[in-house]
Amino acid sequence: MSDPSAPRGALAEIVVDLAAIRHNVRVLRELAGVPLIAVVKADGYGHGMVEAARAAREGGADMVAVVTVDEALQLRDAGYVGPLLCWLTLPDVDLVRAIEEGVDLTAYSVAELDTIAAAAEAAGLRARVQIKVDTGLNRGGAPRATWADVFARARAGEREGSWKITGLWSHFACSDQPGHPANDRQEQAFRAAAALAADNDLHPDVLHLANSAAAVLRPSARFGAVRCGIAIYGLDPAPGSTPDIGLVPAMTVRSELAMVKELAPGDAVSYGQRWVADRPTTMGLVPVGYGEGIPRHAFQQGQESGSAEVAVGGKRRPIRGTVCMDQFMVDLDGDPAEVGDEVVLFGAGPGVPTAQDWAAACGTINYEIVTRIGGRMSRTYVDTDAAAEARP
Ligand SMILES: *Cc1c(COP(=O)(O)O)cnc(C)c1O
Repeated sequence: MSDPSAPRGALAEIVVDLAAIRHNVRVLRELAGVPLIAVVKADGYGHGMVEAARAAREGGADMVAVVTVDEALQLRDAGYVGPLLCWLTLPDVDLVRAIEEGVDLTAYSVAELDTIAAAAEAAGLRARVQIKVDTGLNRGGAPRATWADVFARARAGEREGSWKITGLWSHFACSDQPGHPANDRQEQAFRAAAALAADNDLHPDVLHLANSAAAVLRPSARFGAVRCGIAIYGLDPAPGSTPDIGLVPAMTVRSELAMVKELAPGDAVSYGQRWVADRPTTMGLVPVGYGEGIPRHAFQQGQESGSAEVAVGGKRRPIRGTVCMDQFMVDLDGDPAEVGDEVVLFGAGPGVPTAQDWAAACGTINYEIVTRIGGRMSRTYVDTDAAAEARP
């Protein structure tokens, strides 16, 4: 299945293995031992929201989650009919349609609950509402001082038939640092919120707190479900802390050499001449750049080992010189290479750099590497399970 809107002759290809997503969901669900909410926001972290949602459900995900109402409605429009959660309601968004489509909305405040009540009345339906409490991230969610009021309003709306409170949840700030004291504090605060909700005669169907890192590393935070994003795509949610649980990266990005040239000592490469050859070597031109989401930080001047690497001809090749909008150069170290030779930027498999390798080289997290990649690249889907079955 390939993206019909993908341009022919794309400069590079994002290949997403749906079998890997199914596998990762299975592994995580079994490890956590509770229902799994698969997070497919931001176009499925760059893997394709609709395809990722489908694969996650096939792998056993109990619910799918996105951030905005818009994303949720896009999933419905694409034919996804299963349980669906979103958590950031912008003013003027069409809540009536979201309620008609059975989307679980998330409320952070009494004012938001009032808005949802009006939309439920307009729809003539009982909404599905989850309450998000802020336990220390200080991003979205109801601040602690407002919990009692929010729970009282939630209970009143339930009595009046405006909604059913389907969940109570919160989000960690430091779950990728399992020893960080904020984790204990947030979990305690979440337990306090659940107790206060019960005191207000509010009994949400499910409590959930853990994202991928906490789902794997913090059994006490698993509650009634875990909310996993990065790990369903096979990437490490807490590099340096996660045990090997057999996740498989779902995304591979590959391109082809567009040109090969020889350089003499003293030849400088790309804008700013920030890399200068100190020996005769060969350079390969890779026809993608920051227009495709390749971080400009992937080349680190003056740090020979600090730049990101790609795989060409079975070897790791470092990026040399400033990453441009449309292209970058890799050092082929004098090895024979030809136009059209495959370049694997990152992905799965032996000898291939990972998105985590790129994140480390660029001073960011693997989430950002996979989510920002795109631009003029095409995206295609493979299913290695199906391929394995088809093989004689
Ligand atoms: C993105 C997000 C998640 C998923 O986090 P991962 O670390 O990718 O598992 C879960 N909950 C919330 C609120 C999020 O914003």
